[in-house]
Amino acid sequence: MTQILDGKAAAAEIRAEVAAGVRELAAAGARLPQLVAVLVGDNPASQTYVGSKVRSCAEVDMPSRTLRLPADTSEADLLALVDELNADDAVDGILVQLPLPPQIHEKSVLDRISPDKDVDGFHPINVGRLWLDEAGFTPATPTGIVALLKRNGIPLTGRRAVVVGRSAIVGKPMAGLLLRESCTVTVCHSRTADLAAVTREADILVAAIGRPAMIGPEHVREGAVVVDVGMTRLTDAAEAERLFPGDAARREQMAAKGYTLVGDVDYTRVAPKASHITPVPGGVGPLTVAMVLFNTLKAARRRQGLPVSP
Ligand code: NDP
Repeated sequence: MTQILDGKAAAAEIRAEVAAGVRELAAAGARLPQLVAVLVGDNPASQTYVGSKVRSCAEVDMPSRTLRLPADTSEADLLALVDELNADDAVDGILVQLPLPPQIHEKSVLDRISPDKDVDGFHPINVGRLWLDEAGFTPATPTGIVALLKRNGIPLTGRRAVVVGRSAIVGKPMAGLLLRESCTVTVCHSRTADLAAVTREADILVAAIGRPAMIGPEHVREGAVVVDVGMTRLTDAAEAERLFPGDAARREQMAAKGYTLVGDVDYTRVAPKASHITPVPGGVGPLTVAMVLFNTLKAARRRQGLPVSP
């Protein structure tokens, strides 16, 4: 029987633990963690992401601020703001929401964030720390995936993990984190020859591709754990019906919103083969925001010289 890995429930547990951590700091008279989100321009998806992060902070009583800058902000002005936030002792976590407008070089901005406040874990120093097994911040999505697997009692040591996707945000850090858990890791990408033959080797298969329902039953070994990171808005109603035949909730969503959220895994056909699988939505997505809060609490503790769990 396939077990569905409930990301919403795991994220709620993590938020409750972060809330307890914030209360503990308050009780000890320590400074509370503060997250600052920087939003440049008015990209609707970015506004939604930042909105959900800020709401989640409020839920765990963590102070947060959103700094909104106009779309024509210059790179120099944004870098000056990052410098200010780096120097502000009350700020523990800095998030610059991507994408940035074309006049701003994203990497220059991300690299300017102090590694000690880089709660997204994208700074090259934190990337290096991950691969050197040193303490630092690791990107929220793959960190959340490891937390989800562990909380569901899925053994990792010695197991074969295959990650499809090699982005800096998901695929590569996912590989690093699974290696840290003593998995034997293979990373696939668009040039991988005979992808299905490689992914069928996986005890744990992570799909981070951005191509709706690309991973079919032919890619999955019987009894594998399947983690679906993909999140694509599918607007084709006929394709949605093919992928989720007779799914009334999907049909309603298509009618109401004009799209349905689809992962990289053909869920209907793959789930029967998997021992465990994450749904989309409700799988990996909710963990990402929870792990940003977790990283901000960690930053606040570390910056105040308090012990931090690994
Ligand atoms: P990128 O586009 O940066 O990377 C996609 C990766 O998939 C690339 O490495 C690419 O290979 C690989 N790929 C593309 N086509 C194929 C193929 N046919 N066969 C094998 N590999 C292929 O995407 P991201 O990593 O940023 O995101 C991936 C997905 O995860 C997206 O749907 C995104 O929306 C979602 N996402 C979800 C999050 C969440 O919270 N749930 C958070 C972040 C992302 P190559 O390098 O060779 O081009």
